[in-house]
Amino acid sequence: MPDTEAAMPRAVPEEALAHELRSSLHGEVIDRGHPGYDEARAVWNGLIDRHPALVARCSGTADVVEAVRAARKFRPVVSVRGGGHQVAGSAVCDDGLVIDLSHMKGVHVDPAARTARARAGVTWGEFDRETQLYRLAAPGGEISATGIAGLTLGGGFGFVMRTFGLSCDSLRSLTVVTADGTVRTASREEEPELFWAARGGGRGIGVVTSFEFDLHPLGPEVAAVLVLHPYERAEEVLRAWRDAAAVAPDTVTPELLLWSVPADPGVPAELHRASCVMVGAVHGGPPGDDAAAALAPQRELGPPLADLSGTVPYVALQGANTWRFPDGERYFMKSHFMDDLGDEAVRTLVDWYSRRPTPESLIVVRTLGGAVARVGPDDSAFAHRSARFNVSIDAGWQDPALDDTAIGWARSAWDAMKPFSSGGTYVNFAGLGEDAGELRGAVFGSHEERLEHTRAAYDPEGLFRSAAYRP
Ligand SMILES: Cc1cc2nc3c(=O)[nH]c(=O)nc-3n(C[C@H](O)[C@H](O)[C@H](O)COP(=O)(O)OP(=O)(O)OC[C@H]3O[C@@H](n4cnc5c(N)ncnc54)[C@H](O)[C@@H]3O)c2cc1C
Repeated sequence: MPDTEAAMPRAVPEEALAHELRSSLHGEVIDRGHPGYDEARAVWNGLIDRHPALVARCSGTADVVEAVRAARKFRPVVSVRGGGHQVAGSAVCDDGLVIDLSHMKGVHVDPAARTARARAGVTWGEFDRETQLYRLAAPGGEISATGIAGLTLGGGFGFVMRTFGLSCDSLRSLTVVTADGTVRTASREEEPELFWAARGGGRGIGVVTSFEFDLHPLGPEVAAVLVLHPYERAEEVLRAWRDAAAVAPDTVTPELLLWSVPADPGVPAELHRASCVMVGAVHGGPPGDDAAAALAPQRELGPPLADLSGTVPYVALQGANTWRFPDGERYFMKSHFMDDLGDEAVRTLVDWYSRRPTPESLIVVRTLGGAVARVGPDDSAFAHRSARFNVSIDAGWQDPALDDTAIGWARSAWDAMKPFSSGGTYVNFAGLGEDAGELRGAVFGSHEERLEHTRAAYDPEGLFRSAAYRP
């Protein structure tokens, strides 16, 4: 499968740009001849094979300002790299400049104010580790290796989102280097339009160098459900789960996966890698809340293959599935928002899962609502506040010979689910490359025009245009 995301053709005087960057940055500037070039251009998804002219490994905001200034002078295609986990590989571009923030680490927690400021190269695992020292958390993604940057700028689904909202809903402020090279603070009070865009529509507004989050009391232990059901009962379990999810309190975030049984010591070895239905739910309620009672309807959906529910450290929960998505393997993920999950939609999901190309491939149904839906529909650029579910079809494989089969499966399953979709797609699970233009309406809905306006105001010459038009 070719990597179809075309860079805008622009002849870049690579040597002159490299010279300019090397004379102004403290971080490393990596060109095509550098021994670390292949490592610097690699992202999490092994399907992505792009060859940038230069990677500017920024050491801090001042380096980002210099990189943006150099980009203004030489006008390369620009991509911005946070954690490098976007499935579409949009952190890297062909023949352009990668502004790489992945080495910008550091989290400062203010326990009294219940806030944390993190630099843009931090991953959720690194972030949670620091905030959990104080039994505090900002709702993050479900895989600890994912970057806080891209995930938050696209919205941010996580295990406790119905209790605390999307990751972007906990943003207090951001430091952004805009296309004119100015360092700005965006918050509700300062640059409010930039702050609005950053929460769900944050690609292409500039380079965000740090994120300030409000923190919520959580942990160190959280109660969680993880029940494995036999695949033969998939439709029945899905229907029962849907009905239980509909009445779950906001302290509970339910999730269902059609996937392979993990090689967990709590599950008989003969079941490992067989298809199953995994019912998960996390309790984000305050101490003293009856977590067991709140979670019981998720736990009691019929006789299970295995019940691994219990109380786990929040940090362990956040990292529990990271090993199942190794770096460098091949992936494709594409999703629908849904207002309902009717019986026909359930049948279609199970039918398509049964045709999955590899045991690594899965379908995830996440439940929104709760705190996600309590934010006003136009309060942030995230355009899907009223959706009740997000269904993500995630192909994973290793052998390049399977590229067409695996991607074809995910696209066909996505097409089959289209009649049940609300018409919306999540930018962080939005396919690969050729979908970017076509999906814009689905990703940003009625916010697209306002976003365009904001981008034009802060980037009239379109320095970040290609970054804005990638998922
Ligand atoms: C295994 C796996 C699990 C995932 N789980 C979840 C999940 O639980 N919930 C969820 O919501 N999503 C999830 N995602 C999707 C994830 O949100 C996106 O992949 C997200 O873009 C990752 O952020 P990143 O910084 O690692 O990405 P990158 O690939 O570095 O960046 C992604 C995009 O954001 C832009 N960007 C990144 N950093 C900046 C910045 N500092 N300033 C401006 N623009 C920037 C880039 O230009 C790029 O377009 C998952 C992805 C993977 C691979």
